[in-house]
Amino acid sequence: MIVGVPKEIKNNESRVGMTPAGVFELVRSNHTVYVQSNAGVGSGFTNEDYQQVGAVILDTIGQVYAMSEMIVKVKEPIKEEYTLVQEGQIVFTYFHFASSEALTKAMIKSKAICIAYETVEDEDGTLPLLTPMSEVAGRMAIQQGAKYLEKPVKGKGVLLGGVPGVAPGKVLVLGAGVVGIQAAKMAAGLGAHVTILDIDMKRLRYVNDVMPPHVVTEFSNEFNIRKHIKTHDLIIGGVLLKGAKAPNLITRDMLKEMHPGTVIVDVAVDQGGCVETTRPTTHEDPTYIIEDVVHYTVANMPGAVPYTSTMALTNVTLPYVLALAKDGWEVASSKNEALQKGLNIVNGGVVYKEIIEAFGWQS
Ligand code: NAD
Repeated sequence: MIVGVPKEIKNNESRVGMTPAGVFELVRSNHTVYVQSNAGVGSGFTNEDYQQVGAVILDTIGQVYAMSEMIVKVKEPIKEEYTLVQEGQIVFTYFHFASSEALTKAMIKSKAICIAYETVEDEDGTLPLLTPMSEVAGRMAIQQGAKYLEKPVKGKGVLLGGVPGVAPGKVLVLGAGVVGIQAAKMAAGLGAHVTILDIDMKRLRYVNDVMPPHVVTEFSNEFNIRKHIKTHDLIIGGVLLKGAKAPNLITRDMLKEMHPGTVIVDVAVDQGGCVETTRPTTHEDPTYIIEDVVHYTVANMPGAVPYTSTMALTNVTLPYVLALAKDGWEVASSKNEALQKGLNIVNGGVVYKEIIEAFGWQS
């Protein structure tokens, strides 16, 4: 198959759909790979890196779309790309169709085969192509939180690890899912005292089993949250109710009970956030302050670490890319149920019912 890797053109997106390691595997399996010139630069990969493993570099995005049977990328196509997508072409990327009717209509019109990373789903209900981005965001949450706890950026002035003779900082993690566990692990590694809350006892038991003793689990309820926000320096929001808006576990009035300079990193911002005062920010202007509490609420945290994020994403997408290239979408998806769940729009028809429901269309 001919596989194309265009350069991402969405604002501030430096990730790329395939690393040289992925190209190496595809070329080894006798596929042709076209990579747009400089597509990998933002993630640290040069044209020469791709050429060395057998990719052909094309100058323009138009050439990559026009000459490829499958497009592998990161973000959903933006307006400028809508008409580049070809009839019958496989497009394998994050789509998030339910949040854009314009994109959905454009992909219906294109008659392409749209396979969405975010809906590829394993038997146990986990989303293998979303997990790595939660891992990145969870770990990064502590890095960002530690930075914004510094006084010059209006934080409380606490060093998370403490020093000999001075107690370490305290981190409260809401949600013991992928984000929460990665955040807790990073905070614990820095030497901070960590409290992690969830409503799922299985998750709390797991955390209790695998984490060191300075990571304490507690059940998530309003009483415990109110108690802990008064004493913790950094609060991480990593709550998710699948398919729904995140619950407001911290309300505006609760901010007044926090110490000035407390930092909230609400990773769940992309689902509305688990703090009432959360609103999405960008990497250019990541924080704002309400009631003397610093809010860090960047909706695409992994975008700031494209090298790590690209590697983490392509590690998990590559097996599916190889299967699609080998068998084509019909056979590959019939062999693999997880991939089948990724099919969203096929030859002009929506095949993922949540998209139809999201727009109130008739099926
Ligand atoms: P997950 O499903 O692995 O974990 C969510 C956890 O929240 C679960 O353990 C669940 O039991 C728990 N939970 C539900 N209600 C709760 C409550 N009332 N109190 C405490 N815990 C509760 O999800 P995840 O992969 O960790 O993702 C968490 C959020 O982070 C999602 O909204 C995801 O989209 C978001 N995310 C954001 C970014 C970003 O760049 N901002 C990047 C990746 C993920």
